[in-house]
Amino acid sequence: MSEPTIFEQIVAGDIPARVVYETDTTIAFLDANPLAPGHTLVVPKEAHERLRDLPDEAAADLWAAVDELTPRVEDAVDADGLTVGVNDGAAAGQEVPHVHVHLVPRFDGDGGGPIHGVAGGRPDLSDGELDDIAGRIERD
Ligand code: 5GP
Repeated sequence: MSEPTIFEQIVAGDIPARVVYETDTTIAFLDANPLAPGHTLVVPKEAHERLRDLPDEAAADLWAAVDELTPRVEDAVDADGLTVGVNDGAAAGQEVPHVHVHLVPRFDGDGGGPIHGVAGGRPDLSDGELDDIAGRIERD
C-alpha cells in the first residue's frame, strides 16, 4: 500500500490543521503556507491524485463544498475577490498528490495577477487548430 498523503494524515487527525468545514466525504482547512490570509484548501477525504480520478459523487461533493465556502472565506477576511484554482498534475504545479481546490482571497491592489498568468507564453493557434482541438474535447 502506498504512503498516506499529507492530506489523508490530516483527515485521520495525525497531523493538525485548522479545519473550517467537514462532511463525510470532504474537508477544508487553512493552507499551512498561505498565499493570503484565509487561503483555504478544499479536499475530498478519499485520496485521488487527479481530478480525472475522482468518482462522480466525490467530485459533486467537492464542488458543492467549494460553492458553500467561497463566500464564507471571502467574507471572513473581508476580501475583494477570490482566485479558485486546482494544480491538476505535476506539470501544473501540483505538489501534494491528493486532489485539492485552492481558495485564495484576493484584495484590491494585492499585487497578484489573474489566472491567465499561470501558463507560459500564449500559443498562436490557427482556426484549423482551434477547430481540431474543440472537436477532440467535444468527443471526449
Ligand atoms: P499544490 O502545489 O499541491 O497545489 O499545493 C499544496 C498546498 O498544500 C500548498 O499550498 C501547501 O502550502 C499546502 N500544504 C502542504 N502541506 C500542508 C500541511 O501539512 N498542512 C496544510 N494545512 N497545508 C499544507
